[in-house]
Amino acid sequence: MKKAIYPGTFDPMTYGHLDIIKRAANIFDELVVSVLDNKEKTPLFSAQERVNILKEACKDIPNVKIESFEGLLIDYCEAKGIYVVVRGLRAITDFEYELQMSQMNRKLSNNKVDTVFFNTTLKYSYLSSSGVKQIAQFNGDLSAFVPDFVADLLKERFKR
Ligand code: ADP
Repeated sequence: MKKAIYPGTFDPMTYGHLDIIKRAANIFDELVVSVLDNKEKTPLFSAQERVNILKEACKDIPNVKIESFEGLLIDYCEAKGIYVVVRGLRAITDFEYELQMSQMNRKLSNNKVDTVFFNTTLKYSYLSSSGVKQIAQFNGDLSAFVPDFVADLLKERFKR
């Protein structure tokens, strides 16, 4: 059974992430989408909220599991016995960072953990969580970027 982990901040999940999730779920028998709970960052949504958003968005994809993790990705991979990491690539700017991360993870794991990259569907190539948060802050139309229930959560958050 081929399994993979798709780790990320997902603050919040966008249609760009969801597209990668669906495509990876078509290739792997099981995909664990895992929210990085980084205590040094102050995300807009807590790890539990980000997990809940992903759970709702992926509820109809049977081979996708949603979790969260802290610490090093390779330790999490080892704990789960899953050695394939999925990441998405939007542009050249992503490439440099993602290449560095994947090579570091490979080295740190003694060549056990490999990263598989999915290139973005073109219509989402400009889409990022930070862009979505900026639009939400000024009450812009989010319908092309996130599911409606996520847009509602964003609006609610920025009301405060
Ligand atoms: P990070 O995990 O780097 O903090 P994110 O949670 O936003 O950032 O993204 C998780 C992964 O999804 C990264 O590999 C990122 O490149 C990818 N990703 C984000 N948005 C898109 C998109 N619109 N199209 C394809 N991949 C994306």
